[in-house]
Amino acid sequence: MRLILLAAPGAGKGTQAEKLSEHFGIPTISTGAILRHNIQEGTELGKLAKTYIDGGNLIPDDIMIQVMDDRLSKEDCKNGFILDGFPRTLAQAEALDASSIQIDKVLNIEVPDEKIIARLSGRLECSQCAATFHTEYRKPKVEGVCDNCGGKLVTRADDKPETVKSRLAVYHTQTEPLLKYYSDKGMLRTAHGQEEIADTTAEVLKALED
Ligand code: AMP
Repeated sequence: MRLILLAAPGAGKGTQAEKLSEHFGIPTISTGAILRHNIQEGTELGKLAKTYIDGGNLIPDDIMIQVMDDRLSKEDCKNGFILDGFPRTLAQAEALDASSIQIDKVLNIEVPDEKIIARLSGRLECSQCAATFHTEYRKPKVEGVCDNCGGKLVTRADDKPETVKSRLAVYHTQTEPLLKYYSDKGMLRTAHGQEEIADTTAEVLKALED
């Protein structure tokens, strides 16, 4: 399975990607996690990405396309993958189409903007393994500590209310057009984000059946 997950920031894309990775036994490739890792490591890519991410803006297409070209050619992607956060613009989608990488399906998880703003305000991320938690909807077993790896849970800098607003605006103008792009190709499947993660996963798996 070669799957693209499309959804607004905070719609639960990362969490569902983790579930799908387990279900299908294939890796999730998260562009956000790759970029944040580079920021932590202080690489050239990280330094450049930080200015865009902190402002809630997208990294330029040519850079992201290069990053993903490299990542998707790695051995662990040979039997399939889940793309979380790529493509995010029409130019990125067209670059993927022009490459030798074949995508099977594109899944959209729909969540209204008001719910997204509420969810992002309590989101926590593991500073080591990038797993996501929430102060209300997905509490870690021990406060401030990642259930998976014991890493420290932090609030992402770009989850500040002002930045969330610009990220949502960027999503609507630059990423939402991809829904029509993939729907026209007959590749789009849709699920609705529910209150319970497991209910969303059930809908997601059903949407991917056909
Ligand atoms: P995410 O964790 O997917 O919400 O990504 C966090 C931030 O990384 C985004 O708000 C963008 O600034 C940047 N980013 C992630 N993926 C892409 C992409 N495909 N194209 C451009 N910027 C991206």
